[in-house]
Amino acid sequence: MAYENRDRVKIGLEIHVQLNRLKTKIFCGCTTNYHGDPPNTHVCPVCLGLPGALPVVNRRAVEYAIRVGLALNCGINEHTQFYRKNYYYPDLPRGFQITQYDYPIAQQGHVTIEGEDGEHMVRINRAHMEEDPGRLVHEGTIDRSKYTLVDYNRSGIPLLEIVTEPDLRSPKEARRFLDKLRNILEYLGVSDLDLEGSVRVDANVSIMDGNRTEVKNISSYKGAEKALLYEIVRQKNLIRRGKTVTQETRHFDEAREITVSIRTKEEAHDYRYFPEPDLVPLRVRDWVAKVKEELPELPDARKERFMTEYGVKAEHAKTLTGQLKLAQKKQ
Ligand SMILES: [Zn+2]
Repeated sequence: MAYENRDRVKIGLEIHVQLNRLKTKIFCGCTTNYHGDPPNTHVCPVCLGLPGALPVVNRRAVEYAIRVGLALNCGINEHTQFYRKNYYYPDLPRGFQITQYDYPIAQQGHVTIEGEDGEHMVRINRAHMEEDPGRLVHEGTIDRSKYTLVDYNRSGIPLLEIVTEPDLRSPKEARRFLDKLRNILEYLGVSDLDLEGSVRVDANVSIMDGNRTEVKNISSYKGAEKALLYEIVRQKNLIRRGKTVTQETRHFDEAREITVSIRTKEEAHDYRYFPEPDLVPLRVRDWVAKVKEELPELPDARKERFMTEYGVKAEHAKTLTGQLKLAQKKQ
C-alpha cells in the first residue's frame, strides 16, 4: 500500500561532512587533527585570514569530494570553481567563506533508502566543497554566557556540503537517509564520523505546501529526528490555529529538544557570491577517471554480492553491510 503523506511533509537536508581523514586543511598546510588540542595551536596566516595570505587548494580534498560525488550517483562537473560567500561573523576572520556556488564539484545524484512504503529514491541536488569556519565556544549556554571564545583550529578544515531535494516525507525517512549516508561515507574512508562536529545537519521542513523553515546546526543523527518531529508538530499547530508558518531560520536547542527562531532567512543574493580570484578554476576530467578506478565496493553492491555469492537473505545482508567492520569480517 502506498504511503499516505497526509500532512504533505517535505524535508530536505543539507549535510556538512568534514573530510577529516585528510592530513591537512583545504587551503593551507595546517593539520586537520585538532581534536582535543589547545585552541588556536593549528593555525597559519591562510586559515587565520590574515591580509595577503593566499590559499592553495588541497589536491586530495578534491579527490575525496569526487569520491563522495560518484558514490552518491552524481555527475561530476569537469569544470569546477570556488566562490566567495560574503558575510561577517567572528568565526570567519576573512569576512567571507571560500565555498562553491555555480559549478559545484558534483550535481544531480540519488540515494535509495528504505522508505515508509518500500524502496524510496532521494535525489541529491549537489555536493560542493568549502572550508569549515572556526569554532565559537560559550561558557555554559549560548544565551547565558558572558563572553564568546574563538578557536580557529577548525578554520579551513575541508568540508563537503551535500544537499538533497525535499524528497523525504517523515523524520524516520530523514534518519534512514542519514544512516545510509553515514554507511557510504564509512566505506569511502573520507571522514572519521565519530569525531565531534564531523557531521552537522541543517534541515528544510514544510507541511501542507506552506512556507518552509530551516533548522540549523543539528549536531547528531538522533537530534535530527527529534528536531524534525518537533518542527512538524509546531507547524501543524500554527496551521490548525489559522496562522501561517513564517519562512525563517531556527536553531535546534538539543537540551530542551525544541527549535527557536534565530532570524529571517537570507537569500543567496545577500551573500554577494563572486568567483574567488585567488584560486584558479579546476578541470577535473582526468581525476574523475582515476578516482573511479580506485572507488571501493559500496554498501548496496556488497549487499547484492553477499546475496548472490553466499546466498545470504536480503535482511541479513543488510545487517552485515550496515557497518563496515562487520562487512569486512564476512569476506
Ligand atoms: Zn592554516
